[in-house]
Amino acid sequence: MKKNVKIDDFLKDVKKLGIAGHVRPDGDCIGSCMGLYLYIKENYPHIESHVYMEKIMGKFDYIKDIDKVENEISDTGFDLFISIDLSDRERMAVAGEEFAKTEKTLCIDHHVSNTGFGLYNHVVPDASSSCEVLYDMLDEDKISRDTATALYTGIIHDSGVFKYESTTEHTMNIAGKLMSLGVDFPAIIDEGFYEKTYVQNQILGRALLESILLLDGKCIFSAVNKQEMEFYGVTPSEMGGVVEQLRLTAGVECAIFMYETAHMEYKVSLRSKKYVDCNAVAGYFGGGGHIRAAGCTLRGTVHDVVNNILIHIEKQLKEKGLL
Ligand code: AMP
Ligand code: MN
Ligand code: MN
Repeated sequence: MKKNVKIDDFLKDVKKLGIAGHVRPDGDCIGSCMGLYLYIKENYPHIESHVYMEKIMGKFDYIKDIDKVENEISDTGFDLFISIDLSDRERMAVAGEEFAKTEKTLCIDHHVSNTGFGLYNHVVPDASSSCEVLYDMLDEDKISRDTATALYTGIIHDSGVFKYESTTEHTMNIAGKLMSLGVDFPAIIDEGFYEKTYVQNQILGRALLESILLLDGKCIFSAVNKQEMEFYGVTPSEMGGVVEQLRLTAGVECAIFMYETAHMEYKVSLRSKKYVDCNAVAGYFGGGGHIRAAGCTLRGTVHDVVNNILIHIEKQLKEKGLL
């Protein structure tokens, strides 16, 4: 792990800073954007920072200054723009145009599919989360409890509470350090990660009920269309967790979950346990992510979309002698 890259090196002469995450921000995106925002506010008070993300779910209200997140951009003239947890420039929410106009840009990330779209890039693909990458760029002695709370949130979300393969001894050491700063870890894990709203549980139940086993039970698939989402009153950012539950099905190696984002357009999420390279599959369709968790957007009927994806999963399972 590259540990010698420090955020301080990028902040010289910076008076105005922009921070941006990805569309439909998840716990790691929110935790890393807010962790950086709070750290800079506390340790570099002369820097005017702006943090840009799409609307954030109420359950993250425990993160300090979450109300300072801007859903629209009106400022300009940034000395530095930092993108965090963003694998692909196209997925930047809110601040894309200003990022493009800014000369000095820094990309902090952990996606294996990230090709480095910033002037400077600090991408650590084997890190559990962007929060882990960011932690290593900070001065440990200058991390407050508020910053620690944001960083702990991202680690919890992207490691699935320390269970995904990307979790390492280093991840656990960082979590321990953050714990020692007094983060309320039971609440971050229970309320921030596991808790679901009533409608989230309903759509989860529906998706599980309608799921189909494919490829000899090695693959599971489910889809939710726009009408169903409207019926239950759930938004795309509330769909997290469905594909993770599908993945847990006994005997399944790979889970596919998709929901309709526009007429005949589906956001696809892929998760695997040990063998399928989800990033490679999503990559065929212009998406990306990590080896065991990736996503992409496809157009067509549910039938077409799932068949197109299955071809690649089947090929991988056959190559690995699992089919
Ligand atoms: P999701 O299935 O949307 O939860 O995404 C799983 C992982 O893949 C996350 O780390 C995302 O940031 C990443 N990802 C999802 N969709 C895309 C995409 N279209 N392009 C690149 N990365 C993606
Ligand atoms: Mn993310
Ligand atoms: Mn992440």
